[in-house]
Amino acid sequence: MLGCFVRRGCPLVCLWALLLPLVSLHRLDQRGQRGHSVRDRPKLLLVSFDGFRWDYVDRVPTPNFHSIMDEGVTVERVENAYITKTFPNHYSLVTGLYAETHGIVANEMYDPIMNQSFSMETDSIYESRWWEEAVPLWVTIQKAGGKSGAAMWPGSDVKIHGMFPTQFLQYNASVSFETRVERIVDWFSAPKEKAVDFGVLYWEEPDESGHNLGPQSSLMDVVIAGIDEKLGFLINELKKAGLYEQVNLIVTSDHGMTQLFTDNIIELDEYVSRDLYTLVDKSPVVGILPKEGKVQEVYNKLLDANPNMVVYKKEEIPTHFHYQHNIRIMPIILEAKEGWTIMQNRTGHVMLGNHGYDNTLRSMQPVFVARGPAFRQNYVKTSMRSVDLYPLMCHILSVRPLPNNGSLLNVQDLLSSQPVPTMPSTPPRVTEYSYAPVIGSFISVVMVLCFLVFYVRQVTLKQLPSLKHRSREMSQPLLQEDLHL
Ligand SMILES: [Zn+2]
Repeated sequence: MLGCFVRRGCPLVCLWALLLPLVSLHRLDQRGQRGHSVRDRPKLLLVSFDGFRWDYVDRVPTPNFHSIMDEGVTVERVENAYITKTFPNHYSLVTGLYAETHGIVANEMYDPIMNQSFSMETDSIYESRWWEEAVPLWVTIQKAGGKSGAAMWPGSDVKIHGMFPTQFLQYNASVSFETRVERIVDWFSAPKEKAVDFGVLYWEEPDESGHNLGPQSSLMDVVIAGIDEKLGFLINELKKAGLYEQVNLIVTSDHGMTQLFTDNIIELDEYVSRDLYTLVDKSPVVGILPKEGKVQEVYNKLLDANPNMVVYKKEEIPTHFHYQHNIRIMPIILEAKEGWTIMQNRTGHVMLGNHGYDNTLRSMQPVFVARGPAFRQNYVKTSMRSVDLYPLMCHILSVRPLPNNGSLLNVQDLLSSQPVPTMPSTPPRVTEYSYAPVIGSFISVVMVLCFLVFYVRQVTLKQLPSLKHRSREMSQPLLQEDLHL
């Protein structure tokens, strides 16, 4: 082929054909470099400190929270999902759905179709079908070709729609926060083909202390300062791994906490016989499953029983709670007023702090701070809904969101003015100078090959008569054969 072009006087075309693979290889190499950018594509770590109320950050010095606030965004008021309990809200954060839609309507549930109960105290929480009215973000990312890692996030060790997170830890409350952080940092730091894009990290405090001590206790100061230190540990580990400037870090919670008073107890036994109903889920929002045909009777007995308890038939639950359209929501719902506890009687442990109340109560609302390349700096937003977080996270991760109750429009002002770095945010300057060596090499090779062509041509011309003769002899039979066809 080369000879053909040389004879036709097209050495440059020929050389281009030779060099094309080299250039193509270089282009591939460039794509490889962009591949490194892909490695740097948006990463997101969502952290929940259970029960971290929005105002805890200003109660004691919390330098690590404040460093995120200075370098990133703060949302002053996050309206979370009703009921303000742990399982419903953690699932809302990763699905963008209210509880009536995602189906985890309480920490304790009864499903009359399955005729089964869901309880944090039993292995029922590992049964997939409880969770499969929705699709959590880690499943969506994985179906889109991404990877996720989960350290004890509620529901993340359950197979949902056939998938676990790419990396996850089986729930074990005795595993320290530090170990959870180390694992998740390892997952983010893994080689490109294994590194996770989205991580979720859960820690049980300060919820547990808030329940036991009550949020008004001065002992909570130490607990809150301790959470800030744990956040500092996370920040430090991300920095040590070179991830801190790459990872978009969101620190939030499922709910707040309010003070209880031991005298503020509503005893259901005073108003209605236990024979008439089953109690599903615990205070402060209690699901009542009346025995067959007893809905109206139970309702009548409870309706005006206590001024500190609101009684709803399921169809009367206010629309703004988005807590009605699910078979797992019981026919009667009792909601205690803030600071009150509903029990069947006073026996048993009485907590000093609780959550679960009306999600518009300030005490029920969680902290929200975030920083990273996708977020603005030193920006304070007045309010958002926790369901808005899901479309925001999908946007940052460049994943198409599933239908959800949130709105990216509501929260897009949290994003930096720079485009979200799904692609390199600046034009790849590498293009300008990376072709220069190729062009230089090309010209050099052309010159060398021209010289060689010239040299070979001169040598060939000296032997031309004999070659011409031989050529004629060799070609003659073929031509004759062709003519006979
Ligand atoms: Zn919680």
